[in-house]
Amino acid sequence: MPIFKDAMSFQDLNLNTPLYNALDDLGFTTPTPIQEQAFNVVASGKDMVGIAQTGTGKTFGYMLPILKNLKFSKQDNPRVLVLVPTRELVVQVVEEIEKLSKYINNRVLGVYGGTNINTQKQAVAQGLDILVATPGRLYDLAVSRALQLKSIQKLVIDEVDVMLDLGFRHQLINIFDILPERRQNIMFSATMTKDVDTLINDFFKSPERVSIAVSGTPLDNISQHRYNVPNFYTKVNLLVQLLKDEERYNKVLVFVAFKRMADRLFEQLDQYYKEELCVIHSNKTQNYRLRSIEQFREGHNRILVATDVMARGLDIDNVSHVINFDTPEYPENYMHRIGRTGRAERQGEALIFSTEKEQEAITNIERLMKMKIAVLDVPETVDISTDLIEEERPQIKERNNPTKRKDEDAPGPAFHEKKAKNQKENLGGSYKYKMAAKYKKPKTRGDKNYNRRNKKT
Ligand code: AMP
Repeated sequence: MPIFKDAMSFQDLNLNTPLYNALDDLGFTTPTPIQEQAFNVVASGKDMVGIAQTGTGKTFGYMLPILKNLKFSKQDNPRVLVLVPTRELVVQVVEEIEKLSKYINNRVLGVYGGTNINTQKQAVAQGLDILVATPGRLYDLAVSRALQLKSIQKLVIDEVDVMLDLGFRHQLINIFDILPERRQNIMFSATMTKDVDTLINDFFKSPERVSIAVSGTPLDNISQHRYNVPNFYTKVNLLVQLLKDEERYNKVLVFVAFKRMADRLFEQLDQYYKEELCVIHSNKTQNYRLRSIEQFREGHNRILVATDVMARGLDIDNVSHVINFDTPEYPENYMHRIGRTGRAERQGEALIFSTEKEQEAITNIERLMKMKIAVLDVPETVDISTDLIEEERPQIKERNNPTKRKDEDAPGPAFHEKKAKNQKENLGGSYKYKMAAKYKKPKTRGDKNYNRRNKKT
């Protein structure tokens, strides 16, 4: 369900008649928060990073300003490129653009992998203004020269988090390489991840950030608490203990930031809750993920361990608890995580486990929500572990180690006589020519006909 707020009207955005007519036909009267916030930034031509989930109206968020400013043109090369991770999204985004372009004379095309490339080459050859594509197919079309990207003025990358999670980073970079340097970059991501952050820093020019930190659920419906826990294994012990209360913790979504952490936690919990446990992250096959979600949704499995990226868009009712096994570094992710509970008017519970290192992230979350999260004491029955996982062990930096050899003490190469066969001197070019003369090697430099003339007949 889209999330609406009735503060502004579309009239405030100064659109044009064709767009107003299209919006009228759709029955849309007020812009959604992301549309409100993104409009001026996209229209200004600046690079933009938008943090928004599907369902917030983000497609119109970038398309309204783009369509408002896209002049009619007879040229055939696309001027707007929208990259999305999956073919389903290509189809969906094309449909949305077409709805909005009902009274505009522009050409929109969607291309994606897994279908005949020749048909798509022919479609491209017809000429187009807006191209929606998956990265792999776009690149193939561009290198085959069926598609010219030199006129692209605006690049939109949607669902960047998913794209990077699916391993499209290299393809994205290859595409950046063949796009004109002078262009506007617009990017949307539902979750903020380290990979997304790196991509922004590497390729965007001081982008403006637009973020709608909606949790999907009114915060009043969620009771939030946190635990301070020293390390991973103690977090595991605490979680194992809490989950013993089956009645209270009857549908538990456990969030972690990385795939590796998801597997690690799964392994630990598996020893206690084997029959009730499932996991989703992007290294699992689509079938595996769908099965896990189904089992959790249907209540066959009580506990689902998930990464942020894979859990976006999860629509599951009656989640009793969202447990933040790690503290999200990006506060928006926390909002998305906890929005999975407390739905349908039912009170949900959210818990955060934080180590010392994660306290700063807590401050950021509290700042974003403008509220404090009460700390609970770790029950005395929970074992405080002193074992550390790899990432928690102190990095040993050597200082002043008297037994360590300094560079100047390092022995040079061992000295001994070279073997006779290695004693030949490098005689450089002249030696080469001497040998060539001796063995009558063909001379090709200078006189190209030397060989032909000197051929013995
Ligand atoms: P999106 O987040 O772009 O996938 O959009 C989610 C859904 O909201 C789509 O079906 C849109 O057609 C619809 N939508 C977009 N903007 C508005 C709006 N201002 N008012 C009502 N519905 C909208």
